[in-house]
Amino acid sequence: MMVAVNRGLLLALHLGRMKDAGTLTPQHISLGKFDNVRNALEVARTARSILGANGITLEYPVFRHMANLETVYTYEGTNEIHTLILGEALTGIPAFT
Ligand SMILES: Cc1cc2nc3c(=O)[nH]c(=O)nc-3n(C[C@H](O)[C@H](O)[C@H](O)COP(=O)(O)OP(=O)(O)OC[C@H]3O[C@@H](n4cnc5c(N)ncnc54)[C@H](O)[C@@H]3O)c2cc1C
Repeated sequence: MMVAVNRGLLLALHLGRMKDAGTLTPQHISLGKFDNVRNALEVARTARSILGANGITLEYPVFRHMANLETVYTYEGTNEIHTLILGEALTGIPAFT
């Protein structure tokens, strides 16, 4: 979990530096959002699982983070649309209209 969180932080830092340098593209943003939200959800889910059934309850805030991240999975570009954008960037073929 620590490694995943730091990896996401480094990706965000790198993309921020690219923006400062004027080299950032929308496809880079898609890459960062796609990967960081996915990893954050996985980290929250693992943390919930470590707490067992208690992780489901209001006793711990982990599930709240999971619910918040589910919303981020959809807003500011859904996971599916970022996937399609990355697919087009890789192949040159837009698989969406
Ligand atoms: C908590 C929360 C806060 C939000 N805050 C804001 C806000 O402040 N301002 C704002 O403007 N909006 C906000 N939104 C809206 C958010 O941006 C939209 O929910 C999001 O863009 C998806 O649109 P939709 O819900 O209409 O889904 P739809 O566009 O109906 O999509 C439904 C599903 O189909 C997929 N899909 C859509 N089009 C395609 C396609 N061409 N090819 C393949 N798959 C496709 C989507 O990925 C999704 O899985 C918020 C949403 C949430 C959950």
